[in-house]
Amino acid sequence: MLAVADQPHVADPSLKGKLRRRFARQVERRPVRMRLDRAIVSFSFDDAPASAAVEGARLLEAAGVRGSYYVSVGLSDREGPMGRFAGEAEIAALAAKGHEIGCHTFTHLDCALADDARIERDIDCNFAALTSRGLKEPQTFAYPYGEVSNPSKRLLAKRFRALRGVHRGLIENGSDLNLMPGVGIEGENGEAIAGAWIDRAVARKAWLILFTHDVRQDPSPWGCTPQALERLIAKAKTAGCEILPVASALDRIEARA
Ligand SMILES: [Zn+2]
Repeated sequence: MLAVADQPHVADPSLKGKLRRRFARQVERRPVRMRLDRAIVSFSFDDAPASAAVEGARLLEAAGVRGSYYVSVGLSDREGPMGRFAGEAEIAALAAKGHEIGCHTFTHLDCALADDARIERDIDCNFAALTSRGLKEPQTFAYPYGEVSNPSKRLLAKRFRALRGVHRGLIENGSDLNLMPGVGIEGENGEAIAGAWIDRAVARKAWLILFTHDVRQDPSPWGCTPQALERLIAKAKTAGCEILPVASALDRIEARA
């Protein structure tokens, strides 16, 4: 059994960490070719706390849309600062309702700090745990902590259609599918920041991936309230965005390229 990383969620704040993140964005790029008629917004949930799997999914389903859940199976049913993480039945229920089950790392391993063999073993473990439950192999990946090194980016890019970090931005023609931006619905101004990015995506007919963690009253610093999530879903719909899970957005982009 691989040891599960300790929460909480903080990217390496040192200069070395900052430079590593900056360099990783310049290498091993896979530029997307895309042209959209209207903006796409994807709602994603990293680590899949149970509140995101239950309350977050309920809000998306009520709006007739689905989201993406980046699961670290090693966290399943554990308690953390984001509350309990979703268990086997909750993850299966998400998949049954048409939500995307994406891959984080099994142990919430920081990919910037591990060698290739360790990362491979970890991802294999996550795939095996998901497929042994009858779930499909994940097509997309979210880097835990948004952290990646040049070698781990090269390695992981081979296994997934698209991979997401936590630096803010939009996905437009030429953006890197191996390190896509994401905008967090988290922290004090999370809803306002996410809302402003929806406006930008609409204006530029771009693809925006939002992410959060727990969805509950009194959320952790990495989560949001159900009300905030509900308002953002409504805002994206009212603005005419298409709301799609990440893998479905890739299908749409490929079909329209
Ligand atoms: Zn995570």
